[in-house]
Amino acid sequence: MSQSYAIDCLLEPIFWIVDNFAGNLGQVFVFCVSVLTAAVVFIAYWIGLPFWWQRDPYTTIFLVLMGNWLLLNIIFHYYKGVTTSPGYPPHGTMISEAASICKKCISPKPPRTHHCSVCDRCILAMDHHCPWLNNCVGYYNARHFFLYMVYMVAGVSFVIIFGFEIGFQVLWLYDPSANIPHNDPDLIGHPVRINQTGALIPIKDIVEYDSVNFPREHNLPVPITSELQLISSDPWKRKAVIFMAVTCLSVFFALGTLVIWHGKNISRGETSIESHINAKLRKTPRNVYRNPYNFGRRKNWKLFLGLIQGRTFIRHILLPSGHKPSGTGLTWHTIHNVMEDWP
Ligand SMILES: [Zn+2]
Ligand SMILES: [Zn+2]
Repeated sequence: MSQSYAIDCLLEPIFWIVDNFAGNLGQVFVFCVSVLTAAVVFIAYWIGLPFWWQRDPYTTIFLVLMGNWLLLNIIFHYYKGVTTSPGYPPHGTMISEAASICKKCISPKPPRTHHCSVCDRCILAMDHHCPWLNNCVGYYNARHFFLYMVYMVAGVSFVIIFGFEIGFQVLWLYDPSANIPHNDPDLIGHPVRINQTGALIPIKDIVEYDSVNFPREHNLPVPITSELQLISSDPWKRKAVIFMAVTCLSVFFALGTLVIWHGKNISRGETSIESHINAKLRKTPRNVYRNPYNFGRRKNWKLFLGLIQGRTFIRHILLPSGHKPSGTGLTWHTIHNVMEDWP
């Protein structure tokens, strides 16, 4: 009795935290995504821009344009993914399309609709509840969710490819033990040379007189400091490069896997929830299950991306576009009732 009371008392603060902050957890995630993205962009300008500018201004202009095009799409699709309502079935009205009744909402449930326990309501064509968006992914924002991931993977790939040399220098070639501080007594009063890693090495044994005892001229070449040496010798820039490598590689592998997985679902005309359900249905013996919303890979993608009614890949995918999916999310064409003139 007293033991369980003690445990209850000990757990009290944890319950309090969960009760008070769990609702805000999604907002914390969105904040983290925004801050991390801003940090990566800042470091790309702070370290990457001077490095490429010293190398070739024309390439740099191209990279700035390309990077900002990717960034524009990332911000647009993230913002739309967070703020676009996934779509809810109408409340309190009869819907003829209803396939079943939601036991929790006690209201009609159209086909492909599922109840989200986090949002505590039914979601049209629900894919999953995404804490990173602090929103459900459903009928109206699934395209933004997917394109956000695609552009994010492209964005971090861009940083990894064009920052590779900097990362290689800092993470691989740089040797902290070879870096002699500027006030090192060994260096004072001596000419120095710079080794490959950018460290200063004192030159102590210079022949001061030549063979006829004339003082020798010391025409030591002045080394050109490259951006790579400047980055390596700055502890803050080194930390920033390590941060970039860890962040970008993690995002690349995590989101890259998700893009492939969702891409496969889109090819089959399934939401994430349906991919689990259909995988089970396909295993049932005797009746061979066919997904009624699978119109073939090409058409599934066109429908998912909304590339119908004359929309083009360049205008509506490569550039930000807020077009909505055609239809209501309440009724669905299936392979059994598809019409001839359907896009
Ligand atoms: Zn419901
Ligand atoms: Zn939800």
